Formats: sequence, structure tokens, C-alpha cells
Amino acid sequence: MNVHEYQGKEILRKYGVVTPRGIPCFSVEEAVAAAEKLGGSVWVVKAQIHAGGRGKGGGVKVAKSMDEVREFSDQILGMQLITHQTGPEGKEVKRLYIEEGAAIADELYVGALVDRETQKVVLMCSSEGGMDIETVAEETPEKIIKIYVDPTDGLQREEAEDVCRKMGMPEVTVAQGADFLEGLYQAFVGSDASLAEINPLIVTQDDKVIALDAKFNIDSNALFRQTEIVEYRDLDEEDPDEVEASKWGLSYISLDGNIGCLVNGAGLAMATMDIIKLYGGEPANFLDVGGGANKEQVTEAFKIMLKNPNVKGILVNIFGGIMQCDVIAEGIVAAAHEVGLSVPLVVRLEGTNVEKGRKILDESDVKLQTATTMADAAEKIAAAVKA
Ligand code: GDP
Ligand code: MN
Repeated sequence: MNVHEYQGKEILRKYGVVTPRGIPCFSVEEAVAAAEKLGGSVWVVKAQIHAGGRGKGGGVKVAKSMDEVREFSDQILGMQLITHQTGPEGKEVKRLYIEEGAAIADELYVGALVDRETQKVVLMCSSEGGMDIETVAEETPEKIIKIYVDPTDGLQREEAEDVCRKMGMPEVTVAQGADFLEGLYQAFVGSDASLAEINPLIVTQDDKVIALDAKFNIDSNALFRQTEIVEYRDLDEEDPDEVEASKWGLSYISLDGNIGCLVNGAGLAMATMDIIKLYGGEPANFLDVGGGANKEQVTEAFKIMLKNPNVKGILVNIFGGIMQCDVIAEGIVAAAHEVGLSVPLVVRLEGTNVEKGRKILDESDVKLQTATTMADAAEKIAAAVKA
């Protein structure tokens, strides 16, 4: 699960990491009132969307007067912000964050993530913070220093201080920098994050170490014990079809192709997408109806797939273990009637009650092709969408 920058900063502050003071807002009036409340003479107006690269897209602006706070808030709120992470259609900005301005002396980078190979949290640190860290990673990877943190010993003080020096922090700020890294590591572990990225982490002109940005991804498998973080969920930032699917207990991810796939089990769903590609087709989605789907869920699954105008055909691939093929067959027939199925449908059933299931399909008035093997199914649907 993703959270907004201001929410990431709330997490950081709980672990003693220093951030600028700021107030989230939903309107221009609120933004102006927030700036007045924060005081000072420089503010930063920041678009809150679940994507990075906002600065380059015009979603982060430094305001030097109340008039500018108003002007920039008015510009940014409601804009369709396009960044390298939003796709070409961009994301509508519905929230702002108004922060006190910071006088930047140096911009650094720190990212924390789980390294699967060593099974440790790795802190990636670089002197080259700011808006182009992707270029640094690609062209000068030696400028990124990695610390693998032992899960039992935690982050070692000497190591933390050492990396701060290597990032070029002035000596007077090294202790603060080490505190920062320790706090970030604690925040990462404590919030069950899968990613925590601070870009930039800044040293101010008066030698303070501050997180100027915060990007957190939280491991969704841990949300059951992160009740405060669950409250941060912003459904406006999620794919509406994926949200709808999750309400029905379906795992749905939309993709770019034109073949809708309805499968039970994540492994079979992956294998189905692979074999579709092998036969020259392109899956339009990943859809796992789970181990014990009922008629209603299958109907909803069809509805969600067919909402995608790119879908030119549907492949149903079910292995009946706990799931019974006749239940799925009934679901398919009911769904086809309810949604008025208008695209070719290929069904492959195997496993428990398969004969009963096939009979239901054969005797129904739903237009479909049946398939025996996965290869047969993939070949038939790939041909059907090309026809
Ligand atoms: P991102 O583009 O989505 O990563 O958004 P950031 O929060 O990182 O902001 C982009 C850039 O705006 C930063 O790299 C800074 O250079 C600049 N910026 C953000 N806050 C301030 C501030 O308080 N003062 C100044 N001078 N620049 C800022
Ligand atoms: Mn940033």
C-alpha cells in the first residue's frame, strides 16, 4: 500500500526523524490558512499524489509571499499532474501539502528497502540527492553506498556515521545524520515498509539534517497489525477496478493487452498469462478468483473484466481442487446472461466435478468454445481475438 508524502513524514516524526513542519490541505483557502499558521516568509506548495517526480512535472513550487501560496495552490490543486511514474494521462491532484520553506545547502539521497538476496534491510545512500537519482543509479552506480543492516544487531553507529561522512555531510552534522539513519531504519521496520525513500535528505544552511521528501510503501501483508497506517489509505489514488475487485475478494490487476483472464490461484494465473503470450496474445489483466469462488464472485469478475474497453476476448482457466467446476460453470452462465457477453469466450475446466461443469456449459445457450489443455485454450483465445 502506498501513502502520501505527508503521511510518510508523520511516520518518520514518530521515530524522531526531523522533517519540515507542514499541514495537508484540500482547498486553496485551507492552503493559505495553513501558510499563515506556519508563519515565516517562504513556503512550499506540494501536490500529494502517489507518484514521485512531482517537482519536474510542476507539482512542487516554492512560494515567497501569501499571494504566491494562493497562486500556486490554485494552479496545482485540480491539475492533471504528469510525472515519469503516473503514465501519460497523469493524476489529478486532490490534496496539497503546505510546508515551511527550507534553506538547502546540500541535497542527499537515502532509500531503505528489503534486499531479498541477503534477507536484510539495505540502506542506499548517496551524495547525489535531488530529482535525478535514477540517472545516478544508471550512470554512476558507484555513487550509491549500500549498508546491509543485520536484523538482530540493528544499524551500527560507526557504520551510520561513516556513511554520513562518505555522503559529504559536514562534520558538525554527522551525529545528526547518524540519528537520522537510525530513525529511518526504525521507521522502516516499525511500519512494515517495503520501501522508504528520502529524496532529498537535506543539510540546511544552518547545519540541520532534514527529510524534505518521503515516499513509503507498506507491505500489504502486514496491514493487519498496522491499524494506524491502514487509515492512510487513499482510494482516490488506486485503480477503481482493483478497489472494486478487492471488495469481492478478487485479486485483480489491469494490464495493457486485450485478453481478459479469469483464473483460480495466483500461480495458475501467472502461468495462464505466460501461455497466452506464448501463443501471441496479450493478457488484459491478472485475475485470481481464489480457491473457493462462488457464482456472485464469478459474475463480478466478468463485469470487472468487461469494463475494460480493450478486452476483445475472455479466457477462463479453472483447476477445480477445492473449487468445483460445476460451480464455476454455473457462474459463467449466470455472468454471461447478466452482463450480455459480447466477446469470444474460451473455457478450460479441469479437476473436481469437471464432467458436471462441461455438461452445464454444453447445455447452456452461452456462446463459447471449450478447450482441453492450457495450450489448446491459449491458442483458441489468441486466434479468437485476432479474428
Ligand atoms: P518529487 O519531485 O516528487 O520527488 O518532490 P520533492 O518533495 O522531492 O521536491 C522536489 C524538489 O523541490 C526537491 O528536490 C527540492 O529541490 C525542491 N524543494 C522541496 N522543498 C523545498 C524547500 O523547502 N526549499 C527549497 N528551496 N526547495 C525545495
Ligand atoms: Mn523527491
